[in-house]
Amino acid sequence: MTARRISAILCLLAFLGATVPVRAYTLRYRDASGIVARRWLTRPIIIAFSTSLNSPPSNIKEGSDVIGALRRALHHWAVAADVQFFETTSSVQTISSQHAGDRINLITVSSDNAAAFGSYENPGRTRVFYDSGGAITEADIALNPNVSFSSDGTPGTYDLESTFTHEVGHLLGLEHSAILGATMQPRQAMNGLFGLPAFTQRSLSEDDIAGARSLYGSRAGSGSIFGRLVASSIGGQSQRVFGGHVFAEDALTGRVIAGNVTLPSGDYRIDALEPGNYRVIGQSLDGPVEADEIASANGSYSGLLDTSPPFRSRVASRSSSQSIAVTADAATSLGFFVSSNPAPAIKPRLLGMNGELSTVALPLKPGKTFTIYVAGEGVDEIPAAGISSTSPFIQVNSDTVTNEEFDAPYPVISFQITVARETMPGEYSIVLQSGDGEFVYLVGALTIDADY
Ligand SMILES: [Zn+2]
Repeated sequence: MTARRISAILCLLAFLGATVPVRAYTLRYRDASGIVARRWLTRPIIIAFSTSLNSPPSNIKEGSDVIGALRRALHHWAVAADVQFFETTSSVQTISSQHAGDRINLITVSSDNAAAFGSYENPGRTRVFYDSGGAITEADIALNPNVSFSSDGTPGTYDLESTFTHEVGHLLGLEHSAILGATMQPRQAMNGLFGLPAFTQRSLSEDDIAGARSLYGSRAGSGSIFGRLVASSIGGQSQRVFGGHVFAEDALTGRVIAGNVTLPSGDYRIDALEPGNYRVIGQSLDGPVEADEIASANGSYSGLLDTSPPFRSRVASRSSSQSIAVTADAATSLGFFVSSNPAPAIKPRLLGMNGELSTVALPLKPGKTFTIYVAGEGVDEIPAAGISSTSPFIQVNSDTVTNEEFDAPYPVISFQITVARETMPGEYSIVLQSGDGEFVYLVGALTIDADY
């Protein structure tokens, strides 16, 4: 059932020409026990710029600033966490093969890497090597020679800086995120989606920054939230939830700050949070980002196909959405107890604007009103008043909720949202709530970039 559902989505996306999935291949965030994080112990991390970056192949638009895009990508991570890069050059063109690392951390755009991608249309891939203790010893990044790139937003191409920034996240040891506006979201939009340049993933979201800081440290004075997601069935037995999405938003502004996916033990942990008040929400991973897209092979999330057991998030129980104060230099415990049955009835799978549906965040601007779409099972059953934002800066105009005709396998609705002029950059969510109190977040579905 899972496979059929996913292929249906991918077929739809291929038809729309909108996005392709970007998959992590050989990295692991933690080992099977979830205790040892895969990360670099060496500092600085020496990055070898392949000479292919100086004379890129023809799939990269002529005149693109390839080296500048890579330097900016590295810089985004270096200012976010305690990570340092040292730049060298190398005449090597191809990434190391799977069991033959050369201890050179090569970043290459050479067309000689075509074999590493086969027929895949992912814009990039990162191959990571570890020692027996779990430390990363090498990571190589290649861009796919079979797809097109640019640095100026040319429609039908991928943005170089966005792709590099995502792949450098893998180089550092990060897995994929289920927060739609995150740079580490599993898919990258092509320029031209929604009729816009796809620059959102150039800049790191709070979630990406929190991930990098959890691996490499952050400024003193941050706090953590940790706990376990447990589902109880009608029979009274409790079961730890594997693959549940637990995420925190700023209680005042509704900005999404960071998320985590529960381990087989049901445990989650969100580090590097600024002191303050947060709303923490737990829900099944069954939306635009699905459970089986989170992990690479062999990590602690291997075998994760669906949130297990599935559960509905409900307003009435007050257990799937909780408020908590985070204090500096302290870890605060927050457990979740949900009912394991039934599985969610509302499953928003796609979102869109400007006539297109996709699974990436919608790039919005302050001071403007937008018509956006949400597609998925049950979305047409949501009462107009049940569609909202948790940000006081983002208003859903419930008078505008309309059923739309799309060539999509799910119902599609549209509605207008207005983004206040004073909205700060970041990711914000749309919440759908049914008449009987079930709710689903489209986590970080709205992204406001600092550049605007
Ligand atoms: Zn990836």
